[in-house]
Amino acid sequence: MSEETLSNLLKEDRRFEPPPAIAENANLKADAYERAAADREAFWAEQAERLDWDTKWDRVLDWDDPPFAKWFVGGKLNASYNCVDRHVEAGRGDKVALHWVGEPVDDTRDITYAQLKDEVSRAANALTELGVGTGDRVAIYLPMIPEAVVAMLACARIGAPHTVVFGGFSADALASRLEDCQAKVVITSDGGYRRGAPSALKPAVDEARAKTASNGHTVEKVLVVRRTGQDVDWDDDVDVWWHDAVDGASADHTPEAFDSEHPLYVMYTSGTTGKPKGILHTTGGYLTGCSYTHWGVFDLKRDTDVYWCSADIGWVTGHSYMVYGPLANGATQVMYEGTPDSPERGRWWQIIQDYGVTIFYTAPTAIRSFMKQGREIPDKYDMSSLRILGSVGEPINPEAYVWYRHVIGGDRTPVVDTWWQTETGAIMISPLPGVTAGKPGSAMTPIPGVSAEVVDEEGTPVPNGSGGYLVLTEPWPSMLRTIWGDDERFRDTYWSRFSKQGYYFAGDGAKKDEDGDIWVLGRVDDVMNVSGHRLSTTEIESALVSHPKVAEAAVVGAKDEDTGQAVCAFVILRDEAGDGGEDIVKELRQHVRKEIGPIATPRQIMVVPELPKTRSGKIMRRLLRDVAEHREVGDVTTLADSSVMDLISSGIDSGK
Ligand code: ATP
Ligand code: MG
Repeated sequence: MSEETLSNLLKEDRRFEPPPAIAENANLKADAYERAAADREAFWAEQAERLDWDTKWDRVLDWDDPPFAKWFVGGKLNASYNCVDRHVEAGRGDKVALHWVGEPVDDTRDITYAQLKDEVSRAANALTELGVGTGDRVAIYLPMIPEAVVAMLACARIGAPHTVVFGGFSADALASRLEDCQAKVVITSDGGYRRGAPSALKPAVDEARAKTASNGHTVEKVLVVRRTGQDVDWDDDVDVWWHDAVDGASADHTPEAFDSEHPLYVMYTSGTTGKPKGILHTTGGYLTGCSYTHWGVFDLKRDTDVYWCSADIGWVTGHSYMVYGPLANGATQVMYEGTPDSPERGRWWQIIQDYGVTIFYTAPTAIRSFMKQGREIPDKYDMSSLRILGSVGEPINPEAYVWYRHVIGGDRTPVVDTWWQTETGAIMISPLPGVTAGKPGSAMTPIPGVSAEVVDEEGTPVPNGSGGYLVLTEPWPSMLRTIWGDDERFRDTYWSRFSKQGYYFAGDGAKKDEDGDIWVLGRVDDVMNVSGHRLSTTEIESALVSHPKVAEAAVVGAKDEDTGQAVCAFVILRDEAGDGGEDIVKELRQHVRKEIGPIATPRQIMVVPELPKTRSGKIMRRLLRDVAEHREVGDVTTLADSSVMDLISSGIDSGK
């Protein structure tokens, strides 16, 4: 990641000014940067005031023993109270908290804040009844149904850290997480709907429970929501129906105030780079970070906006921007159970039209899959309610950004490209919709209160126009506190690379352009070295996606006798491009050559029907590297769909 990194991204010169109407009324204006820079801790304290505290803190930040931070020291609060009760107490109990949309058409529920409060209180009482106490871990393995939100808030209410495991994960993946955090109770359902058909969940819990038992860990109770009505095996000593335990429980529950540093949840990372890490978030700082960023970066107007984040609840985005951020802010939001293409491809746009969604937050992978299908589908819907669009999960290719803004946002909507991680808890680098002139492909600048830099090997900031390592130079309230049960790994993973400066190193590479704006280039582990030139996967992928026939691309470096590493690309074509024609590979190689330079020309380009992705839509390049280097494919347990690798491998074996 040095100056010799070749660049096509920085040639991007499209700019999108904030619309005057948004700029004038923006929650965060330009002065926030100055105020935060003048006194960072005072700025964060001001943000913490957004919450209701039972006992106020006596110290904003304790950084006496880095990298172990304590924020809002001595403060006490209840996260669930902040997300639910206080809105009811303020007279907004009838406001819709969740417009829940089930996958089967017409299976919908609107849940007000008052109803949510009752349901969360009942669930909290039921969990207590099942023996869950403060500090006990509860695993949540559910589809995208309201009970998932209720379960999380019920855990928070009684101080039992939750760990949400993506419903698409296998029994093995679930078992390893249950063991790692020693979960006492699992909340699951009989099944969920996936592309029009019920698919079972409970059997995976049974299998995972048996597996953990053989390793000496006992899951005491399994609370089962009835969603699909399918048959389930039942163990009377362990299994309890949600409707038996929760529906009859009292709706009165007094939330206890917990220490600001009380553990709120453990979330395992995607595992794109290795074994998933159990990231620990605590209460006061985390909730402050989510609430502030959700309000500021999305410019949330509580009484008029309808917000929708399409992320799964089993991903950190589902935690910060579907549960804790929006609910702490008293927002009205959409929650959708299913896939974007069920029962038909316009389902998301239909939902935006039906509910008048004004703020929409999704991932580049989804945008690229819509680009693949063509604009005729979204063009059929009225999406004029949208005013702000967000992107998260990967660098967004400039072409995808412009398509998103143009086709979905009708050219009215700022796009906030938000860079953050499970570890950071909340958005760190992003444009502000009322302030920033957006550049497609750039996450722009750290938000007010956050200090980020791009540094070289020695930890010195690189000059504008150069690339390096993306670091956070100051602690922030929603930062991870440790890796669950492994302080050593916490230090090693994030704080050892630049220990001299005390910087948090995120694992990503980035570039600063001539204006000092940040372009995230993906993980430093993915950077290729071709004949001594360092090439970023993101840049070559963006070059490929800028070709009119290409919808998605994944690039990896494979060992090469002559050049050290060679560029291997996997591409998905747009539907309208058919099979791309005979010369497609030649055409694409030529295109990359022209866009970046001869050194970046892929040695090999494979047209594939799908790419291996995590639940959050990230491409798992390490698996593609295995394919490109003709190795056996590694651990696929965190793939959203593990059959994808067979599809790719078989296509390649048959020479397609
Ligand atoms: P693991 O650490 O186990 O590999 P993961 O890093 O994929 O898992 P997440 O915490 O969900 O799990 O992902 C964070 C990463 O996603 C960031 O480090 C970055 O690489 C990428 N990312 C997220 N948002 C953006 C963005 N707006 N632009 C560029 N990259 C992004
Ligand atoms: Mg990571």
